[in-house]
Amino acid sequence: MTDTQKRVAFVTGSTSGIGLGIVRKFASLGYDIIITGICEQSVIDEIQKEFKQNYKGECTYVSADFTNQDEIQAMCENIIKKYPNGIDILVNNAGFQHVAMVDEYPIKIWNDMIAVHLTASFLLIRFFLPFMKKKGWGRIVNTSSQMGLISTPGKTPYSAAKAGLIGLAKGTALEAAPYGITCNCICPGYVETELVIKQIKKMALDENKSFEDKRSEFFGSIHPTKKAVSIDQVAGLVSYLCSDEAGSTTGSSISIDGGYTAQ
Ligand code: NAD
Repeated sequence: MTDTQKRVAFVTGSTSGIGLGIVRKFASLGYDIIITGICEQSVIDEIQKEFKQNYKGECTYVSADFTNQDEIQAMCENIIKKYPNGIDILVNNAGFQHVAMVDEYPIKIWNDMIAVHLTASFLLIRFFLPFMKKKGWGRIVNTSSQMGLISTPGKTPYSAAKAGLIGLAKGTALEAAPYGITCNCICPGYVETELVIKQIKKMALDENKSFEDKRSEFFGSIHPTKKAVSIDQVAGLVSYLCSDEAGSTTGSSISIDGGYTAQ
């Protein structure tokens, strides 16, 4: 298969933020894309309208709450109804953040954290890998985080889930390598999406600062580059990992964090 042939890419958590940036990038390459995420119908309508106007490939929405394994299974079966040969690219990107000290962390949120980030990714790899093996080509990318490589107080369960994705990618990469399938992790630093904006709002409140002041202080100091990582930069990395050129990159965890974890 060459890069110019039409591919089908399924990106989870693609109704906003990083995932939406990744599907825009894939759509610009002419791929059919499958989006999913928890949001209002109007958001899905807007995305599908944008894709119809700007790109050649199809944009299909499928729904599932990733804390519910039955919903994930039904979502996968719906995808196969539309694409009986399966997908070519899977990006496990859905996620959320909850900041609290480990001794006060709600057990329900721990369970959801592991379910959405790690178990859902395992289930999707488990479901779609046989189709990729049959094709003799496939690309899987897990969105881990700089917090999968290190941690910080308040993000212990998030780090545990993100570190789990790195292990999941390594094992999958080894099992899938003979079939022309790669599996990698990306480890982004702070990207200005809803997930981070919520954290900055909370910090601004705690420190009695305006959101704008806290936002520029945060992004001006958090990474050695003194800038947020951009959605386009992350989408560009994922697009590379899903290309033919990246066929020898597998089992890797690639930092895209403005130097944060180099310190
Ligand atoms: P976002 O909030 O914009 O997007 C999160 C996506 O995940 C949304 O589409 C949302 O609907 C989906 N999602 C959340 N809970 C879900 C559930 N229960 N079931 C199904 N889908 C669910 O945030 P983002 O920053 O774009 O995050 C995307 C990924 O990138 C996440 O895995 C996040 O942990 C990771 N990440 C983000 C940053 C950052 O700085 N923003 C850094 C490193 C890693």
